[in-house]
Amino acid sequence: MFTRRRLLALGAALVLSARVAEGQTEKIPVVATFTILADLVRQVGGSRVEVSALVGPNGDVHAYDPSPADSRRIAGAKLIVENGLHLEGWISRLAKASATKAQIVIAGKGVTLRTDKSNKEFAEHGGTDPHAWQNVANAKIYVANIRDGLVAADPAGKADYEANAQAYLARLDALDAEVRAAIAKIPAERRRIVTTHDAFGYFGQAYGLTLAAPEGLSTEAQVSAKDVARIIQQVRKDKFPAVFLENVSDPRLMDQIARETGAKIGGTLYSDSLSAPDGPAGTYIDMVRHNISELTKALAP
Ligand SMILES: [Zn+2]
Repeated sequence: MFTRRRLLALGAALVLSARVAEGQTEKIPVVATFTILADLVRQVGGSRVEVSALVGPNGDVHAYDPSPADSRRIAGAKLIVENGLHLEGWISRLAKASATKAQIVIAGKGVTLRTDKSNKEFAEHGGTDPHAWQNVANAKIYVANIRDGLVAADPAGKADYEANAQAYLARLDALDAEVRAAIAKIPAERRRIVTTHDAFGYFGQAYGLTLAAPEGLSTEAQVSAKDVARIIQQVRKDKFPAVFLENVSDPRLMDQIARETGAKIGGTLYSDSLSAPDGPAGTYIDMVRHNISELTKALAP
């Protein structure tokens, strides 16, 4: 005879096994190097994946120092998604040390690079600007690479990944049109901004914005008094209307440039990281929307 207690325990076990059977047994563990990539993986992977970012919200992916916990996460991952393009200098060391068996997706593979071998800033950064995601057309290439990586790591999810990617790519097309419409509202002579580091080169190139930055392509570079003097001169000469803060950089330098040139502080742009999920830039699409809203508020009449 079953006791009442044993019947209850049996009932609970049945409910549990039914839950596992009705959903997927196990989610695919994916590790992305930073939050922007993690969001793109979430959009394509949907409920089949469990994704985490090594560099968290508002973190600096250039100057990151991986922890032992990161090594364990990498070791347990089925797929690692990195930007490539010389952005995460620390990831190959970390992957090697963790002895991970994970497949690796280079999300930025195939984008048309901004390269300039003659430029000192570029030369210091492997000859390449890594911030390709700031052009929405490039984010579409990232999404295609992530989709293909997920299909390779989890062939059973192929139909899901393809459907999710297709729907998300359509949203990115709409976003690209939104950016163009927003920039069109800014008079051509006011499409000039300063940011702390050179994270918006692809954005500027795609959407017609001139940029200057004292820090260059990486936040790791030391800014010299000469760099700052050069920017101040350029801002005065070319009448840059505004300087912008970045979520990943110290605001003091921009305060100084604004003070010395009379340019206004335009707001905070999200460059290399998303905000916390409940912040103004919790997803890639919200990040781009937030940035164009800050730009048009400061620059459009
Ligand atoms: Zn950067």
